[in-house]
Amino acid sequence: MRFEKRDHCPSCNGTTFTELHRTAYDAHGLQSFLTAYYSAVPPGRLQEVLNGGTFSIVECGGCGLIFQHMLPSDAILAEIYGNWLGRNDPLAPSKPPMPLDYYTYMAQEIMQLIAFLQKRHGRDRRLRFLDYGMSWGNWVLMAQKFGVEVFGVEKSPIKCAYAQSRGIKVLSVEELSRYSFDFISMEQVVEHLSFPRQTVLTMKDALASGGIIKISVPDGSHMKSVLRSWTWDGAIAQKDKIMPLHPLEHLNCFTPLSLQKFAKGCELKPVSLPLGLVYAYSTDWSNPRAVAKNLLRPIKRFVLHKGCNELFERM
Ligand SMILES: [Zn+2]
Repeated sequence: MRFEKRDHCPSCNGTTFTELHRTAYDAHGLQSFLTAYYSAVPPGRLQEVLNGGTFSIVECGGCGLIFQHMLPSDAILAEIYGNWLGRNDPLAPSKPPMPLDYYTYMAQEIMQLIAFLQKRHGRDRRLRFLDYGMSWGNWVLMAQKFGVEVFGVEKSPIKCAYAQSRGIKVLSVEELSRYSFDFISMEQVVEHLSFPRQTVLTMKDALASGGIIKISVPDGSHMKSVLRSWTWDGAIAQKDKIMPLHPLEHLNCFTPLSLQKFAKGCELKPVSLPLGLVYAYSTDWSNPRAVAKNLLRPIKRFVLHKGCNELFERM
């Protein structure tokens, strides 16, 4: 079977949904969008894989999660992540470097976390960080340079081999129960998962006492209004607008509120880093935009809890 209907909400397990959008995968506009987006796919392959399927978006009456009703099979997902994506990955080690602020943002986040966690746990042992869906391992490699013992989970064999060659311990999901981590990063991961609740519960079980988990997903607050007038004709020019619900990939679409409900359902509660600590380790003051971001983003994140980039700990 190529697609399986989700009978239960992947967040709250509810069964009452409202359909917000529906387009058959063989409709001309959607096919054109996918053909342009997955430019490396051989001609005809998309139609072969997707024909007969439907891109259907529903909203859960219980928790407000918006999600793709039809789940692509594991075989389709393996083909997308293994063959269709990543040919032009700008993060690949063979590519030119990213802009400097890509690195400064990672470095300051890591320093903030280490400072916070060392206040909790002391400095008698190295902290352990896990990046679930680490890609090339850039984030954990940075953490490693700050004295952290680093681990990663990743599906792509090429990326795993690269990470391993740089000293990252690569683990399978099954191996996680043998470890415990002070910090687990789930950066732009949970929106891709067929069974997000099960995966996050597995991560929660892998947290050390006092450990923190980061869940960062695209903010889908505007998606209901986008879908009201959405048309697939010429949609590739507006692909960023539909990004939080990108067909086949972003299977779950959160708002700040539905993310909080999802976390609560997993028995996780938000953690706030003290603003003084966050500001002390903010490093990029190179231009007015960076200054405004440094000052305002922590207030949005740790005081107002607005947005879809949150830290959580066990209840
Ligand atoms: Zn729900």
